[in-house]
Amino acid sequence: MPKEVNPRAASSAYQADLTLKSEYVLEYAEKELGLRRRPGQREMIKTVSAVIEGEEKFGIIEAGTGTGKTYAYLIPVCHHCLTEGKRAVVSTGTKALQQQLIDKDLPFVTRLFAAVTGQCLRFALLYGRANYLCPRLLNEELDKQEATLQLVKDHETEFYLDLAEWLGEGGSGVWEDLPSISDKKRRYWLKICADSEDALCAGCEEPECPWLKARRRAASAQIVVVNHWLAAADLALFSEADLRLFGEVKPAVLVVDEAHHFREVVKMTGQMVFSQSYLGLILQGLEQVEKRMPVPTKHITGETRQAWDLASQAVYELEDWAGTFLGSNAIKPLKPGLVPSNIMNKLQARLQTFLQMVQERVEGFRQELDSLDSGQVDFEESGINEEKLKILNRLDRLAEKIENIASAFERGVRTSNHYLVSGSSGDVCCVERSQGIRFVSWPFDPVPALQALYELYDKVVFTSATLFPSASPAGVEWFLKRSGIPGLKAKIARVSSPFDYERQMKAFILTDGALMPDPTNPRRLEALGQAVLKAVEATEGGVLVLCTSYTELRAVAAHLAQHLPKTRCLFVQGEAGKSELLQQFRDHGQAVLVGVASFWQGVDVPGDALRTLIIARIPFPVPDDPDVQAECYFARHRWWQEVFVPQASLAMKQGIGRLIRTESDTGMVIIADPRAARRHRQLVEACLPVTPSAVALFDAD
Ligand code: SF4
Repeated sequence: MPKEVNPRAASSAYQADLTLKSEYVLEYAEKELGLRRRPGQREMIKTVSAVIEGEEKFGIIEAGTGTGKTYAYLIPVCHHCLTEGKRAVVSTGTKALQQQLIDKDLPFVTRLFAAVTGQCLRFALLYGRANYLCPRLLNEELDKQEATLQLVKDHETEFYLDLAEWLGEGGSGVWEDLPSISDKKRRYWLKICADSEDALCAGCEEPECPWLKARRRAASAQIVVVNHWLAAADLALFSEADLRLFGEVKPAVLVVDEAHHFREVVKMTGQMVFSQSYLGLILQGLEQVEKRMPVPTKHITGETRQAWDLASQAVYELEDWAGTFLGSNAIKPLKPGLVPSNIMNKLQARLQTFLQMVQERVEGFRQELDSLDSGQVDFEESGINEEKLKILNRLDRLAEKIENIASAFERGVRTSNHYLVSGSSGDVCCVERSQGIRFVSWPFDPVPALQALYELYDKVVFTSATLFPSASPAGVEWFLKRSGIPGLKAKIARVSSPFDYERQMKAFILTDGALMPDPTNPRRLEALGQAVLKAVEATEGGVLVLCTSYTELRAVAAHLAQHLPKTRCLFVQGEAGKSELLQQFRDHGQAVLVGVASFWQGVDVPGDALRTLIIARIPFPVPDDPDVQAECYFARHRWWQEVFVPQASLAMKQGIGRLIRTESDTGMVIIADPRAARRHRQLVEACLPVTPSAVALFDAD
């Protein structure tokens, strides 16, 4: 735990130092505050400083676990902001990591700089708009509920009353700060949050508004902490509008921490969805506006409703076809020409008619509202003015939705911009079964969006424990190309982890044929369950099992549920939220946690609560995944080297990185995939910091 700083002693020492380099600050923290000395941290500070002060625009730093990378980028970035009067945005992977930066890392670095330079650094946290409560809308809802004289309060009213009490007691009005609440209440929240269609933020000066307060703090802060979704969507795609978030001075530096999945986030911000429920929202939006019109209005005609019915029927026909097309699959790529032309043509014509009618009605509502201005009503007095603005706001959003659904149909159903037609600038399209049938499309190549984002900054620094799939120049180039680094020019550094893996980690590969991942091997899932159970019985500490599919997860969980000793506790992904499960796993200390997908990264359980990590299978990408198919299509004959191997290597490294989190951790990795000892041994060994031993089933102990 770092000691408190002594401002006066530090300040004079810093003034005596002429280099004024970030390294001095770190040295001060090490000498005076007991911050552990880590050579890798120093190395990374040098690289980040060199990027910020030098010619190169991009810095890419792969920093092994335990390097202390957060301080290693914060110190030079803060140094730059203080001495040059610049501002920076730090983007990280999750809201929890944002919170950690704000609660722990930035306060320490700020105190450090205050001691060393006597200057105070301001930092701020920013979430997406839907995370902030709108006090005006909350009050309006409470007024409405009061006016209805309800004797028994429903859940929604109770929720709003609780929120009002929370705010009254000094609550922040930020979703993340609420104690965990059900998904159902999230629906109520969305009605009264700053992103609601009824929130009239333009010109609003509500002094207690959490959203305005957050914006003001961000506008005057030198360091603003965001997450990748906000960085990607709000800063790149809506850059012009949202630069105002940061006030007059544009941030000069962007640091992307946990950068290994930044590209995917940017890609997904371009996603479009066509579905029956989205179509329903359009009619619903129109009806809501009609109900709220403050003057007698021309009603939504039977003709419009009929047009909606017809369009809706055509979507059902499309869904029927899609259900057969999907079979038992949850997701399948959609290629041009697959949807039968009779279904497509009917839907296209009916959708066009319906959307045109809605558009006309939207215009009609606008004109009716405009004509109100020439009336005799005292708008301010009657509250009509505000209502009118809200309706106009809703009409704007409705117009956006019309555009979105038309575009989602074109791109996702008619596949007019499919990559097979448009090349690498085209879309990846698929049909998926997820709360109904959805047609989803997204741009294959996120590089244009990434480059638009880079344009906003003078310097961009990427960092993560796993960025490059291999140590070779080809591994680095792979990352640079995919991240759209212009001219592939960047300052690159790889900083090794300070951990003594030879002492801290043992690795085993199970070689039994029964564990061979092969669709013709019916014994595999059973053998996997037995192998996991054996490993659990042989260890005292906690066990994390990383599966590569939900089928594996269910099989392992079912086997353990039946045979696990009473002293061990089983947690399975999906039983509760990720952070809740992890907390319970940490607290128990001897539990078993089975996870898939998101549990391969972002799991940080230091100490004995996680001492055995079981990897069910080498995490090769799923060949049926539409994105993987598109990547392979463009990689041509090099699909194995450019898609499968790098993606599996990065996922594997991420997974293995869950085990050893501190210098005192020890543990064992078991890879339950015999291919890791044979055909893919080289790939697996390159991901492990120690040489694995091959053992037959039940010999791992
Ligand atoms: S600024 Fe927007 S979110 Fe804040 S109180 Fe006003 S309307 Fe509500």
